[in-house]
Amino acid sequence: MVIELAEYIIDDWSLGGLETCIGVRSKNTDVATPVNPEDKGSWKKLNVVFDVGIARNCVMYCDALFITHGHADHSASLTNALGKRLVTSKNDPSMDPTLKVFAPMFLAPDLEDTVTRTLRNGCSQHFMSSLQMTSVKLGSSYYLTGSAKQRFGQDNIWTVMPFRSTHSIPCYGYLLYLEGRPEVAYTGDTTISLFYLPENQDLLYVNLLIIEVSGWDLDNDADVETTHKSGHIHIRDIVENKEIFESIKNIVAFHVQPKYSAEFIQSIVERLPEGVKEKFYVCMSALNNFYGN
Ligand SMILES: [Zn+2]
Ligand SMILES: [Zn+2]
Repeated sequence: MVIELAEYIIDDWSLGGLETCIGVRSKNTDVATPVNPEDKGSWKKLNVVFDVGIARNCVMYCDALFITHGHADHSASLTNALGKRLVTSKNDPSMDPTLKVFAPMFLAPDLEDTVTRTLRNGCSQHFMSSLQMTSVKLGSSYYLTGSAKQRFGQDNIWTVMPFRSTHSIPCYGYLLYLEGRPEVAYTGDTTISLFYLPENQDLLYVNLLIIEVSGWDLDNDADVETTHKSGHIHIRDIVENKEIFESIKNIVAFHVQPKYSAEFIQSIVERLPEGVKEKFYVCMSALNNFYGN
């Protein structure tokens, strides 16, 4: 199952502490068709993946993979993603074997090291050559589509800016701009205070916000407390800070903990305040799978 919005299709695979790998692609995009450099319109299409705690099939076709932090449920399956990419491109020569990865500067060298170690144990050398790692730092902006800059100028393409999330360990979220406008944001693991950092204010105007929400028991103070202690957002934070979401078009929550049932999550969504509820979606595919549905 996927979440289908007006402009995007979301492969909504996420369970807090277990595995997160979320694919976002523009609607009307043929998932396996690479960008045509001669077609200016095609540069406007997005096909990206956020985090790789598990290597979902969307990693085989995406134009870029963004990794937020070093917790295993977000980063442990990069080697598997490279393998999937290689096998797919071997079977279909039109596919690009190169996987473009963006990772925080404090994490990128360790990720590359992990891939290298796997090579030592017999994996193909192609694994390393298919990894195109960009080590990102705060305050810098990066092009998603390399040669588009020369062809069309920077205003016509997607750029990405990492931003600081407020998690228990260092974590970067990613804000994607289309023609200079904030369009898609993915928070990584974080607390709600990230939205109050002065440098993160563009987040409040995106078309699509993919936001971590780990705790869901609205009536349970202890649940709120343990969620905050581990550096995560609780659904009560969404309710109590609903005004920050006013200008955001769509909100997709990820990182639900597997201790909640799908029915319970649904019952909480029903209770969200007006102004939030009608544009609020939850990544449920992994949770449904966890309970065998
Ligand atoms: Zn996590
Ligand atoms: Zn984490």
